[in-house]
Amino acid sequence: MSFKYRFIVSFVLLEAFFIILIVTMNFIAINNSSDKLIKDKINSNVSFLEELLKVPLSIYDLATIDNLLVKTQELDYVNSIILLDSQNRVLSEKFNFKDIKIEDIIKVKDDFVYSFENEFYKLKYKELLVDDSYLGAMYIIFDLSENQQFIQNNKETTLIIIAIEILISTILSYIIGSKLTVMLTRLSEVSQEIGEGKNPDIPYQNKTNEMGILANSLHQMKLDLQERRSKLKTLALELNNQKNELLEANKSKDDFLANMSHELKTPLNSINVISSIMMKNKKNRFDENEVKNLSIINSCGNDLLFLINDVLDISKLEAGEIHLDCTTLDIYALMSDINNMFLPQVEQKKLDFIFECDRNIGYFYCDGNRVKQIIKNLLSNSLKFVKDGSIKLLVKKLDNNIEIMVKDEGIGIPEDKLEHIFDRFKQVDGSTTRKFGGTGLGLAICKELTTLMDGEIEVKSKVDVGTIFRIVLPINEDKVDMKNVNYNETAVLDENTEAGQKRILLFNNDPLVFFSVVVELNKNYELTQSSNINEFFKKSDNELFDFIIIDISTLSSNDLDKLFSINDGKLILISDSENTLMKDNRVNQNSIINKPLDKNKLISLMQNEGND
Ligand code: ADP
Repeated sequence: MSFKYRFIVSFVLLEAFFIILIVTMNFIAINNSSDKLIKDKINSNVSFLEELLKVPLSIYDLATIDNLLVKTQELDYVNSIILLDSQNRVLSEKFNFKDIKIEDIIKVKDDFVYSFENEFYKLKYKELLVDDSYLGAMYIIFDLSENQQFIQNNKETTLIIIAIEILISTILSYIIGSKLTVMLTRLSEVSQEIGEGKNPDIPYQNKTNEMGILANSLHQMKLDLQERRSKLKTLALELNNQKNELLEANKSKDDFLANMSHELKTPLNSINVISSIMMKNKKNRFDENEVKNLSIINSCGNDLLFLINDVLDISKLEAGEIHLDCTTLDIYALMSDINNMFLPQVEQKKLDFIFECDRNIGYFYCDGNRVKQIIKNLLSNSLKFVKDGSIKLLVKKLDNNIEIMVKDEGIGIPEDKLEHIFDRFKQVDGSTTRKFGGTGLGLAICKELTTLMDGEIEVKSKVDVGTIFRIVLPINEDKVDMKNVNYNETAVLDENTEAGQKRILLFNNDPLVFFSVVVELNKNYELTQSSNINEFFKKSDNELFDFIIIDISTLSSNDLDKLFSINDGKLILISDSENTLMKDNRVNQNSIINKPLDKNKLISLMQNEGND
């Protein structure tokens, strides 16, 4: 309620209180005095008649008595009169009273009051005595209805007066209130406009009363606000510029990371390949210490490569540049592939590895390579943190989702570290002297990728007991297309390569011969290598490749049969010119490259084949 109305209400309430008080007091006073007058009138009438009646009653002068009774009854306010003799017999009566009979009245020897609706009567009983001897008695019934009516009318008039007075005082207080609050109202309107950012003129500043003080403070406030607004505007502008600069810097950072990682990866690949060949020490050129150093170079190179890939992945995820390449996948096939991939490493560490997944678990629509990346990350961590104990990969269906759990009996994660374990670069042991390697990016990538797939990842862990990572991914039933089941899409992507690159399977039976080719192919293709012919055929069976490059000089004719039974991928054969297998009529002469292998020839052949 505004100040104006509060003022009016308080004024009216106060006014009403006093009006009611005064009028009620008047009303009571008038009623009391009217009652007193009536009482006095009745008493004087009764005494007067008593004296008048005593003489005619003592001598039984009935004519005078009748005459006196008639005269008394003629008075407006006397209704009836009854006179009893000394034997209490009715001597004379002027009786108009309808509601009670005379006989009933004379039984009562006292005053009483009788009222009915608007009628109001008072009965006075008076014994007539002379020198204590009983002459008789009289009953006079006074009709006080008129007086009662007067009181009633007085009451109604009083109420009307109160109502009128309250109405008048309300109007008056409204007028006075409006006048008194007009300044305040204007100032409050002005302050509202200031709040809305307008620039109103502030009135009453020259006044010396409270309004003047208020107006001046408002003026000062307005100036302050205007100054702050303009400062805020400048600040917002600066912030916006800084934001744009930050966005620009972030973009430059992404570009830098992308370029640097590419620039770093190329020489790093060379270091890794050369060191891995050298550490085999085939020609026994290095002593034990040098081989050890070479293996350190190789392991550090690999670690660096992982770090670069992780940094690149996380920055792409952050920039929203990683897009899912989803297809319909056989869940079991995907999971057992991961299982096969990890078995050798687990065996090497002599750990128990338990893989549980129903062969008929079904299909889901997802990016298989990314799912593999997540699980590989978790399993690699388990491998790293389990000394002796088991690692489990458990997969099951939950309504419209699949649940993947990686459980291990490793060192566990302290409770206070769990909350931030998915943050970037967060490691339980962040010290420089830590025992385990790693970048602290793996779990952050897992989290980002799971979220990108509309899934969830959570962790439970207990120190020295073990860790459980639980991932829930949607099956996306509505997108599952059984005509298009494509497990091979999920084949392991070399982490150096981008999705969408052409895939090459290389039978690398001589790393020195293929060294420069490997370095070159790694730049622009997704390269899978195999040095074992059985493994090579297994890969070619399980996965899809655009090109299959193989040195056939060491192959048996049996292997050649197997080679020509591969349906997918364009075959590129490397051979000595005098190799008899080259005469086989299944060999496409255009896809042959003779030794010594020239990497440029190979690339241009692949480009020509790719354009066919
Ligand atoms: P990192 O490359 O260091 O392994 P991650 O993001 O994959 O980076 O993991 C972050 C940290 O979480 C690890 O350094 C380790 O302290 C802890 N951690 C992750 N997985 C496990 C696990 N299975 N057992 C114990 N600790 C783990």
